[in-house]
Amino acid sequence: MAMGIRKNDNVEVISGKEKGRRGRVLKVLPKTQRVMVENVNLAKKHTRPTQENPQGGIVKKELTLDASNVMLVCNKCDEPKRIAHKVISAGNKVRVCRECGEMFETK
Ligand SMILES: [Zn+2]
Repeated sequence: MAMGIRKNDNVEVISGKEKGRRGRVLKVLPKTQRVMVENVNLAKKHTRPTQENPQGGIVKKELTLDASNVMLVCNKCDEPKRIAHKVISAGNKVRVCRECGEMFETK
């Protein structure tokens, strides 16, 4: 798996109609190399009134997008940056910002 993006990462959309939007990764689909990002690539679905939602209306739901369209955001640079891997101890690699070296760790 080459994409390097994980659940709960903070990413920015770098191409397509949602370019520039940021959000948290809700889901990663390694097989298809797709990701689902909070509040990005929303599909609006009209729903009928139900008991929980008596008004009915529009429900927003995220659609997946291609992982190559998003990039991890470095907290320090405050910009989407490429990932480098750094070995911190035997068998223990972390993802760091290629530019400033800041670790991309997701809580
Ligand atoms: Zn950085």
